[in-house]
Amino acid sequence: MLATLSSSLGLAPIAPVHAPRTGARAALRMGTAADDMGIPCEGDCAITYSKLPDSVKPGVVTGQALQDLLDYAKSEGFAIPAVNCISSSSVNYCLEAARANDAPIMIQFSSGGSQFYAGKGLDNTDYRAAIAGAVSGAYHVRAMAEQYGIPVILHTDHCAKKLLPWMDGMLDASERYFEVHGEPLFSSHMLDLSEEPMDENVDICVNYLERMAKMDMLLEMELGITGGEEDGVNNEDVNPEDLYTKPEEVWQVYEALSKVPNGRFTVAAAFGNVHGVYAPGNVRLDPEILGNSQIYIADKLGMDKGTQPVNFVFHGGSGSDINDIKKAITYGVIKMNIDTDTQWAYWKGIRDFEAQYRDYLQTQIGNPEGAEKPNKKYYDPREAMRAGEKSTVDRLQQCFEDLNCVGVLGLQAPEVNNVLGPRRGGLPV
Ligand SMILES: [Zn+2]
Repeated sequence: MLATLSSSLGLAPIAPVHAPRTGARAALRMGTAADDMGIPCEGDCAITYSKLPDSVKPGVVTGQALQDLLDYAKSEGFAIPAVNCISSSSVNYCLEAARANDAPIMIQFSSGGSQFYAGKGLDNTDYRAAIAGAVSGAYHVRAMAEQYGIPVILHTDHCAKKLLPWMDGMLDASERYFEVHGEPLFSSHMLDLSEEPMDENVDICVNYLERMAKMDMLLEMELGITGGEEDGVNNEDVNPEDLYTKPEEVWQVYEALSKVPNGRFTVAAAFGNVHGVYAPGNVRLDPEILGNSQIYIADKLGMDKGTQPVNFVFHGGSGSDINDIKKAITYGVIKMNIDTDTQWAYWKGIRDFEAQYRDYLQTQIGNPEGAEKPNKKYYDPREAMRAGEKSTVDRLQQCFEDLNCVGVLGLQAPEVNNVLGPRRGGLPV
């Protein structure tokens, strides 16, 4: 599709992903992917944000604009929710929630979420489906983010060593995108080599950051282990000591990654956090680790007291004590991952919908209003999915509030003129 579009615009055809690169910067065009798709920015897309750095515009934010947004979050004392998405439905509720809360958002895909985006019926040999699904999801985000008028950071979640071919495929796609648009397809990726020895973790991160920095892309790396279970990775029985990072380790990473020219990075340092929600008392968070690391590194760099050189990332935020979340933000956390709580919210919306309309959902024809009454308007999957979306938008409001991330953009409340619904005789939407 892109090749056709570019040739119709009189541009050189784009090389196939695996062809040798020609460095065809002559084809560089700063139009967005949404422009290419024929849905150029109108209305809300012309927004500028009175409160944010000038570089931050509606749509997917990369490079210096991304750095400016993260630095602004740290200086203003808020963190951006990073929500794991698995479908266009989940991308859309993220965009809806961000606009409703007048805030930026991070949309991220795990390897499993990427594969699901492509469809579980598709062969995933060599992570082909996971690569295609992530790229497909990225284009959906790029198509829609501007339409909602909000800045979106497009990211991917944990990538362990065995998943590096997935990362390579996504980077191929971003390099191809960079040749045309002068920016990467994704804003950033996470590498999680925390199960490998420390030196190997750092070496692989430096290697990848060198490739990513050429496209002005940001790397999130993990130090120490996030406990619990997520996306099929089970860390429920790890050595408790590994759940707490040491300031010296953060410094080792900071020093190595800072040496990469144009290297931008964030650090997911473990401070007792776990994926999933567990009974109270089973999780002991120690956000002081982040504060102590900032002090340690600022001192190494000879910076003023109180300077926070590191942008930290909070994994396993679901179910955390609000005081620990707020404290972590004061220590330089600029992003908190959200998955378990939105999973539950989506399911709860569907569950409540089913409970409310159970008698209308058992057969195609026949309900309490009559034996011949049709039930199509109840079992239309859009009804249950929309119930899940609305429930999740509500839940995300609490996340934005917890992270001090409300009213960040300075936009008016959106006017939603939903002309296609509710349909006549349909259920309230
Ligand atoms: Zn995580």
